[in-house]
Amino acid sequence: MNKKGLKDINIKNKKVLVRCDFNVPIDSDGNITDDIRIVSALPTINYLLENGAAVILMSHLGRPAGEPNPKYSLLPVAKRLEQLMKKEIIFEDCDVVVDESVKNDAKKLMPGQIMLLQNTRYKKEETKNGEELAENLASLADIYVNDAFGTAHRAHSSNVGVCKFLPSSVGFLVEKEISIMGKAISNPERPLTAILGGSKVSDKINVIENLLNIADNVIIGGGMSFTFLHAMGNNVGKSLLEEDKVELAKNILAKAKEKNVSLYLPLDVVVAKEFKNDTEFYNCDVNSIPSDYMGLDIGQKTIELFSDVIKKSKTIIWNGPMGVFEMDNFAKGTNELALEISKNSQAVSIIGGGDSAAAVEKAGLADKMTHISTGGGASLEFLEGKVLPGIDAVNDK
Ligand code: AMP
Repeated sequence: MNKKGLKDINIKNKKVLVRCDFNVPIDSDGNITDDIRIVSALPTINYLLENGAAVILMSHLGRPAGEPNPKYSLLPVAKRLEQLMKKEIIFEDCDVVVDESVKNDAKKLMPGQIMLLQNTRYKKEETKNGEELAENLASLADIYVNDAFGTAHRAHSSNVGVCKFLPSSVGFLVEKEISIMGKAISNPERPLTAILGGSKVSDKINVIENLLNIADNVIIGGGMSFTFLHAMGNNVGKSLLEEDKVELAKNILAKAKEKNVSLYLPLDVVVAKEFKNDTEFYNCDVNSIPSDYMGLDIGQKTIELFSDVIKKSKTIIWNGPMGVFEMDNFAKGTNELALEISKNSQAVSIIGGGDSAAAVEKAGLADKMTHISTGGGASLEFLEGKVLPGIDAVNDK
């Protein structure tokens, strides 16, 4: 990695402004329902504290649309951080994120102390990468650290703008994300298998195109597989189909052949009468899907085919579920593949954020994977081969 990391900067007796991704799910009673993103930030925060820095944390939470809104306050995050760190968190509940009082408190902050700013998206300039907000945030500290991989594909004041005003580095979490995923796409142990699923071809098209240049095997399942199956001449009934992407699917099939990439599609699927858990369903081959049924999961033969490819892989990148895993009757394909990946201890296994990460966690297999990305959108863009602005803005070594 050519970006400065925490070990490349001198932090002793410095005030360090850290952009974290504390965008955690919160239920209607204000309880955090999954704190993995907060836990993932601890190595960087602890390192900074142990090495003599005063730490100022910032993050966005949800979409408050540029206005203060208690529903999106970072107060629950401050409380959870306090529990996890067993240490006081000075929470700056400021409607404009930074004002004179916050600046004074930051000035007084001593090495070993932690301050948390209010939701950066309380200011509408944040998502426009407004310079005034960036300068105000930067004025609180001597150094900036970006440890928010989940927003690295966005250019906002709190991740890109601040870099103009402060020396910067990435934190341990961002470093881990880009070094593991970077190796997987630039210098992987082979065979490299990419498993892509989820609902839409249109969302994943750039990833598929890029992975065709890199992977040995590409497995396509989930809702998006039906556009490919249709392109190959199958009747897909009421399954998800993006008519305007059929030509593109044909091009991808041709390109895979040209590039000698083995592209795997379902041989059979679980078809259902209606889009709900409690409905009539059964396993059928892809060439005999009835017109009034829809495919909601991969079938048994397909699970075996995909599992076989997984078993022989040395690097596995997975993004997107194989079926409607939120419904128990259509979660089997996703769960079985998660299990198969977890059993391949020889392979580097990388789970893109979002739904595949949720499926792996739900199946209790998270600790069996090499890496679960904390950023769904950011990891997709990384796999597309794009430069992520939040990382690009950080100082080079
Ligand atoms: P994405 O956000 O594109 O990764 O898609 C994830 C969503 O795709 C999940 O909510 C799944 O329920 C949905 N999905 C996966 N397979 C299918 C399918 N065969 N039909 C409809 N939706 C699906």
